[in-house]
Amino acid sequence: MPNTKKIFVRTVTFERFLLMGGTERIQNLFCGGCNSETEMMTISDLSTASGIPTLTLFQLSEKLQIHSMETADGQFMICRESVKRFEKGDQK
Ligand SMILES: [Zn+2]
Repeated sequence: MPNTKKIFVRTVTFERFLLMGGTERIQNLFCGGCNSETEMMTISDLSTASGIPTLTLFQLSEKLQIHSMETADGQFMICRESVKRFEKGDQK
């Protein structure tokens, strides 16, 4: 039996419901960028909380301007502290 790897393509779906506030999920996870435990949020929750579009957050994480990680269950999490620092440092 050939050992073929299945590539799971996750379709990005746009959630139609609005978060009514206070429902953002925050997890305390170890951030390699901060080298300490920080508050992490899913990219969609952080986008809602910060007003930064998810696409921008993805691009920032690719450029390593904000910290991100993937949890064991495949959730893409963003470090809240790094976003706060980025926002402060981004003012020209
Ligand atoms: Zn961090």
